[in-house]
Amino acid sequence: MKFELPKLGYSYDALEPYIDAKTMEIHHTKHHQAYIDKLNAVLEKYPDLGSMTIEELLKNLDTLKVEEADRTAIRNHGGGYLNHSLFWIIMDPSNQKNESLITDITATFGSLDDFKKQFTDIATKQFGSGWAWLVRDEQEKLQLYSTSNQDSPYLRGHTPLISLDVWEHAYYLKYQNRRPEYIENWWQVIKFI
Ligand code: MN
Repeated sequence: MKFELPKLGYSYDALEPYIDAKTMEIHHTKHHQAYIDKLNAVLEKYPDLGSMTIEELLKNLDTLKVEEADRTAIRNHGGGYLNHSLFWIIMDPSNQKNESLITDITATFGSLDDFKKQFTDIATKQFGSGWAWLVRDEQEKLQLYSTSNQDSPYLRGHTPLISLDVWEHAYYLKYQNRRPEYIENWWQVIKFI
C-alpha cells in the first residue's frame, strides 16, 4: 500500500487572511507531498509492513524490523505525513463546535482561554521546528506539550486532538519571523472549540 496526499476539504484561500493561499498551496502540495514520497520510498523495502496504518507504524516504531536509518526516516517522514493530515482537518472552516471536547478542556485547564494561553505559550517557546499539541494520553487525560521536528504523539501512544505546525514553512511567507502573530491569528481558523 502506498500512502497518498489527502485532499483538502476546502480551497487554499479558505483560511485567508489568517493563513494565506500561497502558504497553504506550497505546504500541501510540496511539503506534505515530500514527506509522503520519502515515506513510501522507505517502505518499499519492507513489504511486510504494507498492511500497517501510519498510526500503527509510529506507535510500534521501536519494534519494527527495519534498519536504524529507516526507523529514523519512518519517524520523520511518517510523522510529517500524519501530522499534516491532521492539521488540514482541524483547520477546516466547516468544523462544528465540539461541546464534549470543550467541556473536557474546561475541566482540565480551567477555561478555554486558559487552555489557549497555555497552548500558545508552548507553541511560541518551541525551539526551532516542531509542533504544539493537545493530546489524549493513555489514561484518556488531556495533555499539552510540544515536539521537535515531525515527532508525532503516537510515538508516545497518545492521540493528537489539536496540532499547530510551528515550522517556518508554515508561516514564513506571510509572517516572516513573527511566530507569535501567526499563532495568535491561527486560533481564528480553529472552529471546533
Ligand atoms: Mn508543515
